Amino acid sequence: MFDAVRQGFKNARLSLSSKRSLTEADIDQAIRDIRLSLLEADVEFGVVKSFLSSVKEKALGEIVQLEAGKPNKRKSVRPGDHFTYICLKELEALMGPQDTELAGNKSISIMMVGLQGSGKTTTAGKLARKLKKEGRRPLLVAADIYRPAAVEQLKTLGRQLGVPVFHEPGADAVTQCVKGQKEAHKKGCNAIIYDTAGRLAIDAQLMDELEAIKAEVDPGNILLVVDAMIGQDAVRTAKAFDEALGITGFIMTKLDGDARGGAALSIKSITKKPIKFLGMGEGMEDI
Ligand code: GDP
Repeated sequence: MFDAVRQGFKNARLSLSSKRSLTEADIDQAIRDIRLSLLEADVEFGVVKSFLSSVKEKALGEIVQLEAGKPNKRKSVRPGDHFTYICLKELEALMGPQDTELAGNKSISIMMVGLQGSGKTTTAGKLARKLKKEGRRPLLVAADIYRPAAVEQLKTLGRQLGVPVFHEPGADAVTQCVKGQKEAHKKGCNAIIYDTAGRLAIDAQLMDELEAIKAEVDPGNILLVVDAMIGQDAVRTAKAFDEALGITGFIMTKLDGDARGGAALSIKSITKKPIKFLGMGEGMEDI
C-alpha cells in the first residue's frame, strides 16, 4: 500500500547516492521526488509541505553546512545515506510513537464511530474476535438502529464468533448503549463494543447522537473507522469526529484494496491520534 511513497524515497536516494557532497540544489531535487510520491499516495497537501520543509531544514543544517565547514574531511557516512536517515527520523516523528494499546484493564469499552460504509460493523466483529482470543469476554452492542441490515449483520457476526450481541428492538441509540452496558455487567462481560450509526456525510444530528452516547456510557476508547479509499477526504472526516468527540485513535480499513495509504499519514499528522489498527480484508481475521 505504500509503494508510491517507497518509490519516491528510493528515487531520492538514488539521485544522491553517487554524490560525495550535497548542495542545496541536490537536496531540492531529492525533495521534489519525495513530494511527488507523497502527493501520488494521497497524503494531504499541507502535511506534505510541512514534512518536507522540516526534512529540508535538517538536511541543510546537518549535511550541506556540515560539509561546507569541513570540505576535505573524509566522511564515513555518505551524504545520500544521511539524507535518507533524516527522512526516516522525520517519518517516525510523523507516524510515531507506536501505540496499539486499548485503554482499560479490568474492562475495555470501545465506541466505534465513522461514516456509513467505512467498515465499523465489520471492524467491531474483528475486534470482538481479537479480544476473545486474548481471553476476554466481549459483548457487541448493535446501536446502528437506522440501518436494520447493520443489526442483522452484527448478529450474524456474533453468531459466527460465539460473541453475544445486545439489541433491543425499538429502543433509540443511546438507550441501546446504556442497556447494553447493563447487559455486559449482568453477563460478566469484560469488553464491550458499541457499533454506532454512520451517515453518508457528517451531519449535526449524527454528532449529537454520538456525543450523547459518549456522555452516557463514557467509553475508554473512541475509535474512528476510516475507509482508506476516501483519500484526501479522510482528513476532513477525522478532524470533524475528533473535534466533536475527542477520538482516542483510529482504524483505517480497506488497505487491501487500491488505497494508496497516504490518508493514514495525513490523519495521524493532523489529529495527532494513533493508528490503532489497520483493516486488510473482509474476513474477521484481517486486522
Ligand atoms: P459500516 O457501514 O461502517 O458498518 O461498514 P461495514 O462494516 O458494513 O462495511 C462496509 C463494506 O466494507 C462491507 O462490504 C465490508 O465487508 C467491507 N469492508 C470492511 N472492512 C474492510 C477491509 O478492511 N477490507 C475490505 N476489502 N473490505 C472491507
